[in-house]
Amino acid sequence: MNIYVLMKRTFDTEEKIVLTNGQIAEEGAEFIINPYDEYAIEEAIQVRDANGGEITVLTVGGEESEKELRTALAMGCDKAVWINTEDDLDYGDQYTTAKIVAEYLKDKEADLILAGNVAIDGGSGQVGPRVAELLNIPYVTTITKLEIDGSTVKVVRDVEGDSEVIETSLPLLITAQQGLNEPRYPSLPGIMKAKKKPLEELELDDLDLDKDDVAAKTKTIEIYLPPKKEAGKVLSGELADQVKELVQLLHSEAKVI
Ligand SMILES: Cc1cc2nc3c(=O)[nH]c(=O)nc-3n(C[C@H](O)[C@H](O)[C@H](O)COP(=O)(O)OP(=O)(O)OC[C@H]3O[C@@H](n4cnc5c(N)ncnc54)[C@H](O)[C@@H]3O)c2cc1C
Repeated sequence: MNIYVLMKRTFDTEEKIVLTNGQIAEEGAEFIINPYDEYAIEEAIQVRDANGGEITVLTVGGEESEKELRTALAMGCDKAVWINTEDDLDYGDQYTTAKIVAEYLKDKEADLILAGNVAIDGGSGQVGPRVAELLNIPYVTTITKLEIDGSTVKVVRDVEGDSEVIETSLPLLITAQQGLNEPRYPSLPGIMKAKKKPLEELELDDLDLDKDDVAAKTKTIEIYLPPKKEAGKVLSGELADQVKELVQLLHSEAKVI
């Protein structure tokens, strides 16, 4: 089976994030594999081990994407492809990424493409579905179970806590939801083997694309943190006075009555 995993390198949102001029400052930020993509990688490994075949993990991004690709190889992917946009593009959006990925995949005859449900930084959940649309193949999002029998696929997807069971067929793109599996940690032999696994680096030119073909359709104007919560107010005195004061505060300060 010809399996591809779309992997995004993301900020570790559990670490401190600094915003400078409305953008996340990359300096000092920690980077990780997008956690939903770890579910996609684990599922790909289980499908390959059950059905045979090969897994290629693919990322679109600037310099330093290699570390996360090597981690995916250490987990068990067979090959990595890094589409390096560093020299070609200063800015991109979901259209940019999906167009580049789809252009790479269009002649690869992928049976199964796995992506994360959402990136924990950009958070649009658009790249997977957009790639499937561009490739004109079916897709199912937020899946928690995948069963493949020949070219028939049964998928369970999470619908806000409920489950929906869908039958579809290969070739297929799915996006992985938390609970799909328990992603493995790379083992020491896995890390050693990963150093020798193939990692292909491509640029837009190799895909017969130029800047205009993938120019962003949207622009992020600003990113900002929610306003800090102010300390609460504790009322004191006679109960009747407290109630009076509370009503007054709800009217004059909170402006909710
Ligand atoms: C050349 C380039 C320049 C960019 N410049 C900026 C910038 O200046 N400012 C800014 O804020 N953002 C920038 N971005 C990021 C971009 O706007 C989005 O973050 C990105 O396209 C994905 O959208 P998302 O984060 O909402 O992912 P989602 O759609 O939520 O991701 C869902 C899934 O899609 C897959 N996926 C997402 N991104 C990638 C990827 N890059 N490679 C492989 N698979 C992926 C993963 O499986 C992921 O789990 C740039 C992107 C590119 C390609």
